[in-house]
Amino acid sequence: MTYVITQNCCKDASCVSACPVDCIRPSATDGSPGTQMLFIDPETCIDCGACADECPVDAVYSEFDLPEGMERFLDINAEYFRHNPLEPAMIMPMTRPPAVDRGALRVAIVGAGPAACYAAAELLGVDGVEVELFERLPTPFGLIRAGVAPDHQRTKSVVKIFEGAFGNARFGCYLNVEIGQAITHADLLANHHAVIYAVGASSSRDLGIPGDRLPGHHAAADFVGWYNGHPDHAAREFDLSGRRAVIIGNGNVALDVARMLLLDTDALTGTDIAEHALAALAGSEIEEVVILGRRGPRDGAFSLGEFHALGHLPGIDVVIDGGDTESRPDDDVETRLKLDIAREFAERTPTPGNKRIVFRFDSSPTEFVGEDGVTGLRVARTGTDESTVIETSLVLRSIGYRGSPVAGLPYDEATGTVPHENGKVIGADGAAVPGVYVTGWIKRGPRGVIGTNRGCAEETVAQLIADFDRGALHREVGDRAALRGLLAQRGVDAVDWKGWRAIDAAERKRGAEVTRPRVKFIDIEEMVTTARG
Ligand code: NAP
Repeated sequence: MTYVITQNCCKDASCVSACPVDCIRPSATDGSPGTQMLFIDPETCIDCGACADECPVDAVYSEFDLPEGMERFLDINAEYFRHNPLEPAMIMPMTRPPAVDRGALRVAIVGAGPAACYAAAELLGVDGVEVELFERLPTPFGLIRAGVAPDHQRTKSVVKIFEGAFGNARFGCYLNVEIGQAITHADLLANHHAVIYAVGASSSRDLGIPGDRLPGHHAAADFVGWYNGHPDHAAREFDLSGRRAVIIGNGNVALDVARMLLLDTDALTGTDIAEHALAALAGSEIEEVVILGRRGPRDGAFSLGEFHALGHLPGIDVVIDGGDTESRPDDDVETRLKLDIAREFAERTPTPGNKRIVFRFDSSPTEFVGEDGVTGLRVARTGTDESTVIETSLVLRSIGYRGSPVAGLPYDEATGTVPHENGKVIGADGAAVPGVYVTGWIKRGPRGVIGTNRGCAEETVAQLIADFDRGALHREVGDRAALRGLLAQRGVDAVDWKGWRAIDAAERKRGAEVTRPRVKFIDIEEMVTTARG
C-alpha cells in the first residue's frame, strides 16, 4: 500500500522532511525543480501516513481513500519514478542559527501573502528575532484569500501553518497600512535591521493588440479578484450574457477562470466565493469557454493535476481543438502525462447538453473586433497569416502577472522584478542595498504555486541571517515601542492580528448562518469596524 500526492499539491515540501524513508520527490536537492507537483514512490512508501499528516493542503491520500476522479494520481506518482528511479537525496542537515537576544534582529516584512507569511514563519523559527508584518489590506494571506479559486478550498488550508506561527509574541502585525503613505521605506529602516519586500506581482501583463481597450476585454486577474471579493475588484462588472467566453493564455489561472465561468453555482455555494459573484454567475448564460494557447499542447502552461481534474467536472466536456498531442522520446514525465491526458480528452465523445471547455492550440490573438464593445476576437494560426474570428462578448486576458516598481528599490523593467542575489537586493551599481531583501514573485517573477514560496523564503532568510551573523546588519534601530509610537503619531489605523481574528470569526459566523465556510467582507471600512468591534 502507498500514499499518493494529488491535484492540489502546494509543493511546499512539508511532506518531504516528514517521510521516514525519504521517498518523496523532487526534493530541493535532487536537481529537478521544474516539476509542478511532488510524487511518492509506491515501491518505497511504508504506508505510515506521516506525509498526509504533514500536508498543509490535504493533498495526500492513502491509495485506498483516493477521492473520485483522483484515482489516476496513483499511476501518475508511480510513473514519475519509472522515469526518475529513486536515488537517496542528499538531505541537508537542518542548520538553525543560534538564538539571538530578543530584539537584536528586528525584521519588517512588507506584504502578507504566501511569500511574506513563509518568510515570517521562517524568521520566527529563530529564537529572539522580532518580525513586524505590514499589509495594505485589513486582511492577510494575499493570493491564498484573493487568488486561489473558491472551488479549491483545501488549498486555502495552508494558512494553518501561519496561524500557528503568528501566535508568537515576537510577531507584530500591522494590517491596513500601506508602506509609502504615512509610513515609508525610510521609517521601516529606522525601526528594523532589515526589511523584506514580499509585495508580489499584482499588475496584469498587456497584450498590445488593436482593440484591446474595448469594453468586454478584461484582465483575468480582475475577474479572479472579483469572484474572490478583493476590495479593489469587487465592484467590477462582467457581461455574462453571451454564450461563449474566450480566455487568452492557458496557465493555471486560465483554468481557474474557465471552471468558475462554467461550474454549476450549486457547486460553489459551499465555498467562500464572494456573494456578488455567486449571484452574477447564477444568472450567467455562458456555456462554452475557449482557452487559447499560442503554442501546442506540449507547451501548455497548465499543470498536470489541474488539467487532469478538468476531465471530472460534472456537466462539462473538455474539447481539444488542434495541436500535436503525440509525445516525443525526450519529453519529460509531466509533459508526456499531459499529452496522454490531452489525447484522452480528444477521444471522448461530447455529451449533448453539457457545457464545454475548448482548448484551442497554436492560436495567437491578433485583434479585438467590435465598435462599442468586443463582439469577437481575431485569432491567427501561430506563425501564419491564416486567421478567423471567434465570436464572443467576453475576453479574459490570462497571460501572466507583472511586478510593479517599489518606491526606494531598484527595479528591472524587463522582468518586472527587483534585482537581487539570494534575496538580497542589488542596486544599479552592483552593490548590495544594505538591509533590504525580497522574496516571492517580486523576487523571482510570477511563477510557481503557493508552496514554491517556502524555498524562496528560506533562501532569502538564510541570506539575511548570514548578513546579520557577519555584522552587516548591526546598527541602532527603534524597538517595537518606538514603531508603535510612530504609527500613533502618524495617525495610522492599523489592524493587528487580534483584529484579523475578529474579522475571520465574523466572516465564518456569517458563513455558518448560510452553511458556507465564510461570507467575506468586501468593504474595507466594514472590515476595520469589525476588527475594532
Ligand atoms: P502562466 O502560467 O505564466 O501562463 C501564462 C499563459 O499566457 C501561457 O499560456 C503563455 O503562453 C500565455 N501568454 C503569455 N503572453 C502571451 C501573449 N502575448 N499572447 C498569447 N498568450 C500569451 O501564468 P498564470 O496562469 O497567470 O499563472 C501564474 C503562476 O501561478 C503559475 O506558476 C501558475 O502555475 C500559478 N497558479 C497555480 C494555480 C494552481 O496550482 N491551481 C492556480 C493559479 C495560478 P506561452 O507559454 O506561450 O508564453
